[in-house]
Amino acid sequence: MSELTRLIREIIETEGPISVERYMSLALGHPVHGYYMTRDPLGAEGDFTTSPEISQMFGELIGLWSAQLWTAMGAPKVLRLIELGPGRGVLIQDFLRAARVVGPFHAALDVHLVETSGVLAGAQRARLEHDGVPVTWHRGLDTVPEGPAIIIANEFFDALPVRHYVRARDGWRERMVGLDARGGFVFKPGAVPETGLTTPADEGEILEIAAQSQQVMAAIGARLAAQGGAALIIDYGHLETSFGETLQAMRGHAFADPLRDPGEADITAHVDFAALARAAQASGAQTFGPVTQGEFLLRLGVVERAEALMRRASPAQSAEIEAALVRLVSTQEEVVLAAGKVKGMGGLFKALGVARHGLPQPAGFQEEPEAL
Ligand code: SAH
Repeated sequence: MSELTRLIREIIETEGPISVERYMSLALGHPVHGYYMTRDPLGAEGDFTTSPEISQMFGELIGLWSAQLWTAMGAPKVLRLIELGPGRGVLIQDFLRAARVVGPFHAALDVHLVETSGVLAGAQRARLEHDGVPVTWHRGLDTVPEGPAIIIANEFFDALPVRHYVRARDGWRERMVGLDARGGFVFKPGAVPETGLTTPADEGEILEIAAQSQQVMAAIGARLAAQGGAALIIDYGHLETSFGETLQAMRGHAFADPLRDPGEADITAHVDFAALARAAQASGAQTFGPVTQGEFLLRLGVVERAEALMRRASPAQSAEIEAALVRLVSTQEEVVLAAGKVKGMGGLFKALGVARHGLPQPAGFQEEPEAL
C-alpha cells in the first residue's frame, strides 16, 4: 500500500469522506508523497507524453507565435514570458531557440516558470541554465513581477483538481471519496444537499466543476487586462460545459483507476474550455477560439516546419518527424504509419487564446488557414 493511501485513509477515518477536489489535490500535490512531488512523470519511461516532448516543432511554433504577438503589443522592452507547469522545460527551450531568429524579441524575454514540483523545477533548471536568458521560478502566478506578459500553459489546467457534484433525489450533493467495508476508496454522495446548486438534472447525473482552474484563469485574465499581453492555453478537453465526469488516471501510458494507489498515477480531468473562456471574459480579457490543436498548428505552418526539418534529416529521422507531425495534428484516434500506430492529438486537444482588449486576433485563431 502506498504511503499516501495510508495517509488519505487516516484522514477519512478521522474526518469522514473528503471531496474529490481534496482527494485529487492530495494525490497530485501532497508536499511529500504527491505524484508530481516524487518523480518526473513524463516521457517513455514515465506515465504520459506531451506535445513538446513529441516534437521540437511545438515549442518552436509557439515561440514564433509569441514573437508576432510581441510586435502587435508594440514590442515592449521587457516581456514577462510566463509558463505554467513547464514539465521538463522542453517547450520553453524550443521556444527560446526559435525566438533567437527575432533578435529584439529574444532580448526582451524575462522568463518566469510557475512550478510546484521540486523534481521538475530541477529538470527545468538543468535544461535552461546555459541558454543565457534570465529565468525565475515561482509557486504561483501572484509572485511574477508586473508588466506586459505572454503566458503559456500546455497540459497544465488538466492537472488542477476538480469538484464533483452528483444529483440525488432531493437535489445536488458534493461527490466525496469515502471508504468501503474493506478499506478501499469509493465515491459517495455528501451528507447534505448543496443549496446553492439548482441546475435541473436527472437523478445520478454528475457535474464536474474546475473551480481552481477558473480561479487561475480569472487571475490570468485580470493580469492581462491590467498590464497587457496574451495567453495561450492548450489542453485536452471539451468545447461545451455538460453533465458527466472526466476524471482519469494514467500509469505507464495506460488508463488506471483514479481511486487506486493515489500518488502513483497521474490523475487529470478534461478541461472545460467554455468555462475557462467565461472566466477569462468575466475578468476583463477577450478570448479567441478554442480551435483544435490540429487546426492551430496547421495554421502556424507546422507542415512547412516539418518539411524543413526533413530536408536535413536521415530517412529514419524523417520517419520520426512525420510520425510526430501526425501525432500532433491528426484528429483520428489511431493512425497507421509505416513506423507503427500513433494516436492523433489534433482533435481532442484545443487551443484557447486570451488577450487584453485591443490586441488583434493572434495567429492560429483565424477562420481561414494562413501560414505564419
Ligand atoms: N507543460 C509540460 C508538463 C505538463 S505536466 C508539458 O507539456 O510537457 C503538468 C505540469 O504542471 C507539471 O510540470 C506539474 O508539476 C505542474 N503542476 C501541476 N500542478 C501545479 C500547480 N498547482 N501549480 C504549478 N504547477 C503545477
